[in-house]
Amino acid sequence: MSSFEQLRQTLHDIGVLKSARAILAWDQETYMPRGGAELRANQLALLSGIIHRRVADPALGEMLSATAAKANGDPDVAAIVRESTRDHERATKVPAELVEERARVTTLARGHWAEARTENDFAKFLPWLEQVVGVSRRIAEARGYDESPYDALLDDYEAGATASQLNEIFPPLREALTDLLGRILDSGVDVDDSCLRRTYAPDLQAQFSRMVAQKIGFDFQRGRLDLTVHPFCSGTGPGDVRITTRYDKNAFDDGLFSVLHETGHGMYEQGLDPRHFGTPLGESCSLGIHESQSRMWENLVARSRGFWKHFYPKAQNLFPHGLGDTSLDEFHRAINRVSPSLIRVDADEVTYNLHVFLRFELEQAMLTGELDCKDLPEAWAQKFETAFRIRPPSDTKGCLQDIHWSAGLYGYFPTYTLGNVYAAQLFDKAEEDLGELEPQFQRGDFRPLKDWLQKNIHREGRRYAPRDLIKKVTGKEPSQEPLIRRLTEKYGAVYGL
Ligand code: ZN
Repeated sequence: MSSFEQLRQTLHDIGVLKSARAILAWDQETYMPRGGAELRANQLALLSGIIHRRVADPALGEMLSATAAKANGDPDVAAIVRESTRDHERATKVPAELVEERARVTTLARGHWAEARTENDFAKFLPWLEQVVGVSRRIAEARGYDESPYDALLDDYEAGATASQLNEIFPPLREALTDLLGRILDSGVDVDDSCLRRTYAPDLQAQFSRMVAQKIGFDFQRGRLDLTVHPFCSGTGPGDVRITTRYDKNAFDDGLFSVLHETGHGMYEQGLDPRHFGTPLGESCSLGIHESQSRMWENLVARSRGFWKHFYPKAQNLFPHGLGDTSLDEFHRAINRVSPSLIRVDADEVTYNLHVFLRFELEQAMLTGELDCKDLPEAWAQKFETAFRIRPPSDTKGCLQDIHWSAGLYGYFPTYTLGNVYAAQLFDKAEEDLGELEPQFQRGDFRPLKDWLQKNIHREGRRYAPRDLIKKVTGKEPSQEPLIRRLTEKYGAVYGL
């Protein structure tokens, strides 16, 4: 067996182990009974330890060196070696005990977070938050960094990105969005979205959402849609992609748009090249790029008029009591209503990124020790009030609302905003290549966009770092400008600014 074949086989086996872990994690959030929590924590910790040892194995390091020496300029081999070496080196810097400890602590912390959130009792979560921050900090130290420990963690989700790079994109975006929000609030226009708050039977919502997901391109022969509390997508591997959602009988948009969002993620996973399963060329590029796919389908596609010119008659047929007397125009305005809210996942396109900036600042401060975990609720409330002019009435609706910090996901939040930024930039380029897209959506023709994304983004896997991928596809460095332009145009029209 050549060294490259040996490498491929090893990476394939690691891919299989990761897929088993993904299924266990998916089950934990969907069907596992409460009583399974402790066993699941042990299963995930053990499996994570095994995967970590495989990735950090010196034998893998040798295979990588041997393959690199014989790569002969083959670009696939070069990319696989480069990215696998990166994974290997990152893994060897962190002792397996620390990886297992993080898996164990975060699995338990999530249970305590959920309880604290339900009971609005931050004190219950505090000791766990401290433990998770502590273990994350130790991991960052073990990895090493140039400027900030935060960069070492951010790099997990967005390879090569640093806080200082984000600080080139985020502040001008914050300024533009704050200005746009101010003009919307001062316009005196209040969009009526009461049509979305009528009664919508969850089973019919599920039927409609499934039909829409299928129509835009999610392959149900190679994927599932199930119920959960906090929607997510889990790409297990070729032929098996799990998306999840929840339905609220008094919110037509909640379940549907979360399905559309997760469908965007799911189509990315389904679009990866199965021949490269287990290798970096068969993996998604970064969370920011992943999020660009979900945000594009959720917001740029599914909140457009063209999209609803196609689907609205079907929605009206299925929900005559909810939507029968609402015109397409009224409906389109309702799903694009801007209203500052306490909860990130309920936020509209204009305020969403403001929620992210707040978390980006707080998690950096917790990691560097600038902010003591016990002071988080007050720091949150103050920052929130400054950005939104509302003070959260409880921690449940404040710093306890998201799962991320209990799960050890520090450096994850900024990828949501990067996703919005990349999505707008990619959509511009897709329209340049494919012509105006809304008329295509109106005809129910989603294939050209889906194929364009598959060819330009999905099939590339991790061949390029996220910044380089954006540059390669669009010809430009990542920039907040396309997003600012799109939001200003769209909301200018909705609010008559
Ligand atoms: Zn997402």
